[in-house]
Amino acid sequence: MSSASSKKDATRIGIAMVLGLIIGMILYNTGQGDLVSYVKPIGTVFIRLLKMMIVPLVLSSIYMSMVNLGTPEQLGSMGRKAMGYYFVTTAIAVMFGLIFVNLINPGVGADLGTQGLEGLSTSMSERVQSNEGLWKTVIGVIVDAIPTNPFGAMANSTILQVIVFSIMLGWATLYHMKESEPITKFMGALEHLSLVMVNGIMKLAPIGIFVLMLDVMAKSGYGALVSLSKYILTVLVGLLCHACFLMFIASWRLKKSPMFIIRGIFPALMTAFSTSSSAATLPVTMKSVEENLGVHNETAKFVLPLGATVNMDGTALYESVAAIFIAQAYGIDLSIGQQMIIFMTASLAAIGAAAIPGAGLITMSIVLGAVGLPLEGIGLILAVDRLLDMFRTTVNVFGDAVGTIVVDSYLDREG
Ligand code: ASP
Repeated sequence: MSSASSKKDATRIGIAMVLGLIIGMILYNTGQGDLVSYVKPIGTVFIRLLKMMIVPLVLSSIYMSMVNLGTPEQLGSMGRKAMGYYFVTTAIAVMFGLIFVNLINPGVGADLGTQGLEGLSTSMSERVQSNEGLWKTVIGVIVDAIPTNPFGAMANSTILQVIVFSIMLGWATLYHMKESEPITKFMGALEHLSLVMVNGIMKLAPIGIFVLMLDVMAKSGYGALVSLSKYILTVLVGLLCHACFLMFIASWRLKKSPMFIIRGIFPALMTAFSTSSSAATLPVTMKSVEENLGVHNETAKFVLPLGATVNMDGTALYESVAAIFIAQAYGIDLSIGQQMIIFMTASLAAIGAAAIPGAGLITMSIVLGAVGLPLEGIGLILAVDRLLDMFRTTVNVFGDAVGTIVVDSYLDREG
């Protein structure tokens, strides 16, 4: 795609989003929010079409990327680089979260009730239990990634399991190229047709995004925004800093201006913002990084599906802020050791979170449980979760795209 048409796409989608926000706000303020229900199905159709593409695209693109790479060594090298990137950037995201939540202290003095305090664990033996919980969580995430039935995983859209199966199938193919020819042909065709369909679906993006924004704005009240404004601010400042850090890396590795990068990835960022799902955004992210940012096709096909599922910088940052906010709101002092446990569990919870709306809120229980904070605390942040999900998903997707740029740039250099 030319830079001019990527500019056009970005402009159209940007206008659609802003219009959706403004008109939605007007409808909310004039008490006409219900009107949105007439057009909402358009947004639902857009999301469903994107979701329809996830399993065929993940299955075929990971497989084909492995087969095209040719050797297990090259594949291992790409996998190691991607994992290294995910690990480092997720840790940095959590660090940003911890820094800002400790600086801004959004929960200190918040009058949010003290229910659940009795569930607090402070004794040494309970700390030990927390560490056991952490270990169990690590093992749980790994074991759950292995499908007992790959077709079941596909039928249920359990993406991490589909990825594991595709990687194993691709791996086996690398050693038996001749015997796998029919499967490779089938996967190649499936991948090609999936991309053709994604191109068609993306024609709907401006109207889909417009309606989704309209719906969010027309439905949500402002009350919760005010009482939780310091908490929202902490999450947003953290996300912004992390996004700037990611942009710096992307700009350095791609040797392009931030403006060029934003424009290229804009359709994916806006789709992430309006759908709150990295998985639903995956087809758009793939299209954007390949066509607009010139990332090598084989890298994008392997690194992006993996990233959409396990690399969630925004979610990790959000989980660390939310856990400490809850502790502060309950008046609980967390030791450095407990903050370290939050650091680790927030990263794990982000890896374990499905790339769907609200998943981060569900895996919050891992973080809270590990340091013995009351699970009822989740109730405190529920009201603004939908709003924050939009922002953290956008950063998740941005992190995936930058990861692809970084891995690709190092592969190119090696040559
Ligand atoms: N909605 C996020 C995503 O799909 C996950 C989360 O809830 O944090 O990336």
